[in-house]
Amino acid sequence: MTLDADHRTTGRLAPSPTGGLHLGHARTFLIAWLSARSRGGRMIFRLEDLDATRTRPGAAEATLVDLRWLGLDWDEGPDVGGPSAPYVQSWRKDAYRASMDRFKGAGLVYPCTCTRADIERAATAPHAEDEGPTYPGTCAGRTSEDAEALGDRPFAWRFRVPEGPVEWLDRFRGPIKIDPARLGGDFVVGRSGVGPSYQLAVVHDDATMGVTEVVRGDDLIPSTPRQILLYRALGREPPSFAHVPLAVEPGGRRLAKRDGSIKLAALRESGVDPAKLVGRLAHACGWSDRVEPSSPDDWVGRFDLGAIPREPWVVTPEVIADLTSSLSGG
Ligand code: GLU
Repeated sequence: MTLDADHRTTGRLAPSPTGGLHLGHARTFLIAWLSARSRGGRMIFRLEDLDATRTRPGAAEATLVDLRWLGLDWDEGPDVGGPSAPYVQSWRKDAYRASMDRFKGAGLVYPCTCTRADIERAATAPHAEDEGPTYPGTCAGRTSEDAEALGDRPFAWRFRVPEGPVEWLDRFRGPIKIDPARLGGDFVVGRSGVGPSYQLAVVHDDATMGVTEVVRGDDLIPSTPRQILLYRALGREPPSFAHVPLAVEPGGRRLAKRDGSIKLAALRESGVDPAKLVGRLAHACGWSDRVEPSSPDDWVGRFDLGAIPREPWVVTPEVIADLTSSLSGG
């Protein structure tokens, strides 16, 4: 295990409290946690609740309970505090202003009064299937000073995307090259009267909290080139990125949070042994050819990012049946 005190590996778990974590989240968070812990790294828990329309009552608390039940821990977070507190994005809105002012000062953002649907989507992390059409640049002729003349008219702050592709070496997928100008064009970083968007908040937080590696689902790949542009605009070094495959249903459909049976809270409440679940997740990551009941700590020495299958994890009815099989028999 290597431990570099000056540039210590720091990972993060950044769930959105929108409706209960499921098996797919559990696998991704286990991978993110082990990636940092296997190198003696630190872990931060941050709650991403900026989208008030999607935040569900009680979901924030349940998220913490679910991940503790799984056996994960963190050095900083809403329940343990830390030097970058608070760890809940809706409590950090003032902090994001500094990054926004920097973009304004550098002429990198302009007020956009285009459709509401476009603008409203911005508080939520845009998972791949939510990608809209490329913004045509309708309001790009404005400067940040033009915002004042808009009065009460609602607008979004759009970030000017420069020409050309953005490249990064993904720790899981290898080199990736995406042109954000073709992907969606100038993207939203804030809204008048509401505050920062997901893209701005996540970059501001990862940069100021000292996060050195981001490990998350590959549905967030379209966000990464945008976030790298924001790091550059802030004069910060981006973290490393690893985008891992999601969990899907047998038909290939992405696991949805609304499907009760695959939710961690449901499994926990029905008495499923978390050791069995962790063993199942480790098996699904290719670290063992059988399901070994275990805790996340047991895999710190056996973690291998490269062994994770490149295809999505198919959660079959047998996986659920196996997790719940011992319940009636005790
Ligand atoms: N909070 C985001 C989500 O749950 C993930 C953010 C990230 O990992 O960058 O969709």
